[in-house]
Amino acid sequence: MMKKITIAIDGFSSCGKSTMAKDLAKKIGYVYVDSGAMYRAVTLYAMENRCFNDHQLDVEKLRGMMDNIRISFLFNPETGKPDTYLNNRKVETEIRSMEVSSRVSIVAALDFVRAEMVAQQQAFGKEKGVVMDGRDIGTTVFPDAELKIFLTASPEIRAQRRYEELKAKRQEANFDDILANVKERDYIDQHREVSPLIQADDAILLDNSHLTIEQQNEWLMEQYQLRIEN
Ligand code: C5P
Repeated sequence: MMKKITIAIDGFSSCGKSTMAKDLAKKIGYVYVDSGAMYRAVTLYAMENRCFNDHQLDVEKLRGMMDNIRISFLFNPETGKPDTYLNNRKVETEIRSMEVSSRVSIVAALDFVRAEMVAQQQAFGKEKGVVMDGRDIGTTVFPDAELKIFLTASPEIRAQRRYEELKAKRQEANFDDILANVKERDYIDQHREVSPLIQADDAILLDNSHLTIEQQNEWLMEQYQLRIEN
């Protein structure tokens, strides 16, 4: 039996972490977990249950509702990736909207939300053989992960990628709004008190601004091979 490891992929918003993580998981037969989708699902729940007044969050109201939130993933053979479910309802499309994107960092900064999500993420990874992407996977969720990547790219390139992604799905998209959102989330993610976005000491930095998806997948595969050979 080949040794199973834990792979943590962290970095800024819209860097292509999930593309990279998902492709590797598929190739090596690991489970892929999109931790950002979990924070997005909590945000959607908060919006649907009137915890938000525009962008103003009623923190105590959400705190009281945390026990009602169940997030799960179900592999979709058509798309080849897991779909996110909120209380058994598929919310994969809704959680990618700008309404959710513009509120998710506020929700993800709350200590009680993070405690709950981190516990669930650790449970997903307890057998190893998992590729998880997010902001604090290598620092907080799996500090002992055998392979840690910290991914980055310029804000403009990231906004362009997200713009094309939304367009392809025929969702509403405005480049300037997306760029502002990318920059705002970077700022909140890096400056929050609980588990801020920071490169783990033992993470390998990759700037993929000028790499194709194939090039970055190849690079990641090499990193994985190196880890399992030792
Ligand atoms: O990865 P994605 O952009 O979908 O994540 C959405 C948001 O969730 C991020 O902007 C960040 O605020 C939050 N997040 C987090 N910790 C993670 C994953 C995501 O705080 N591990």
